[in-house]
Amino acid sequence: MASLTKGMSFNNPEVIKFLDEAYRLIKEEALQKGTSRDYPVLEFMHPHELESTLDLEITAEPASHEQILDAMKNIIRYSIKTGHPRFHNQLFGSLDPYSQAGAWLASSLNANIHTYEVCPVFIIMEKYFFQKILNIVGFEHGDGVFCPGGSASNFFSIHLARFKKFPEAKKNGLFGSAPFRCYASEDGHYSMQKAAIFLGLGMNNLVGVKTDGRGHIIPSELERCIKADLDKGYTPLMVTATSGTTVLGSYDDLPAISKVCKKYDLWLHADACWGGGALLSKKHRHLLKGSHLCNSMSWNFHKMTGVPVQTSVFLINDPSKKLLEEANSAKAEYLFQPDKHYDTSYDVGDKTVQCGRAVDITKVWLQWRALGDEGMEARIDRGFENARYLTQKLRSTEGFRLVLPEFECTNVSFWYIPHRLRGQVEDNKWWQELHKIAPKLKERMVKAGNLMIQYQPLSTKGFVNFFRIIILNPLCGPRDMDFVIEEFERLGKDL
Ligand SMILES: *Cc1c(COP(=O)(O)O)cnc(C)c1O
Repeated sequence: MASLTKGMSFNNPEVIKFLDEAYRLIKEEALQKGTSRDYPVLEFMHPHELESTLDLEITAEPASHEQILDAMKNIIRYSIKTGHPRFHNQLFGSLDPYSQAGAWLASSLNANIHTYEVCPVFIIMEKYFFQKILNIVGFEHGDGVFCPGGSASNFFSIHLARFKKFPEAKKNGLFGSAPFRCYASEDGHYSMQKAAIFLGLGMNNLVGVKTDGRGHIIPSELERCIKADLDKGYTPLMVTATSGTTVLGSYDDLPAISKVCKKYDLWLHADACWGGGALLSKKHRHLLKGSHLCNSMSWNFHKMTGVPVQTSVFLINDPSKKLLEEANSAKAEYLFQPDKHYDTSYDVGDKTVQCGRAVDITKVWLQWRALGDEGMEARIDRGFENARYLTQKLRSTEGFRLVLPEFECTNVSFWYIPHRLRGQVEDNKWWQELHKIAPKLKERMVKAGNLMIQYQPLSTKGFVNFFRIIILNPLCGPRDMDFVIEEFERLGKDL
């Protein structure tokens, strides 16, 4: 037992040797090879094969340092390299070296952000950060909190809208009130459905508003839904506009939706989890025109800006600056003592619904501080340039077809048509055949291991399976976009 406890000290030379080796392994295998085009994005194995390859059982006897390092090697080997310039599968990815340092810093200090007492530096760091981004969004008198992911940030929107309209619900609950109705784009993120489940509204009270052919909420449809609900005796509560939808990357018209919200006194939330990054670019911030008209916004820095998962903020346009605190505080007397010897307005923890929280600010702060506004902007602009380049190229290459004439964000969606299906009558049967191509091509793609792109159908638009490539990694350039086209032809032409 003595040796075991000794082993836990950072001043034990054996431990330091282990950490040095572990760091070298992470640096070389996960960070350097994991982001190099000379190495694969993934080595695919079926679950049962992976289970028998990896030795992941936790045993009664301690493992040696050698065994642990060996296990780490395999963990890295069979994990997906999401920072790789050819990982385009999801809305997160890329690895920023400064963010990485920020993640290590926070976990090395094992900081926990609730009271100034245990987290002085990062609470002040958050203050500067929120001032900056609230200013960018146009929430002049705003406030914000980091949440464990964009879904959680979206939960806050319904929660705050409800508190604003029915503050007494904080104490009494919602028993006996008329059903609330929330409205979101039919192409919006499913986390709003989860929010309706989690917050006790029920999924049926989240209304999916019809979108136009390009994936934007139709404002007149929104108004029609609200009126119909009022006629039925429901209580309309809030609207979620999406700034960058998950699949098509469409930005809802915030000024038009705000007008409807003002007319019916509804909270307007912008789900900018994916597309919020455009606000950092002078060229692309017009996509979120009217952001200052919203009551709240969620924005994932782990998406377009490439900060490690999870780095998400919920922002609120609140002149009182007290709404978060009022809605969430429980004033735990063992944590938030009012008679502390310092300014307790710096004890920010009661503004959320959690107790302890990971410190996420370091990841985005280090990156932003290192790159400056200019570097952040260049990063965003590069993603858009790559997406425009690829869109143009797909439009003019035989065998590829865009699902929309053009895209607002940096998701680009397209069908790949193998040779045998080209130049034929495109009847129902043809589309059903095309529907089967994407999963087959994807299987070949992951087995080849040098590219990852997602496919999905989109039932609201009647689209059969198509590919959606997400372009956000600043390491990417035109050559990587060309590679995508070449790889599809190589893998798919005989399908
Ligand atoms: C990704 C996404 C979310 C959810 O964010 P998580 O951090 O994955 O929970 C919400 N809304 C939109 C539009 C998204 O793209």
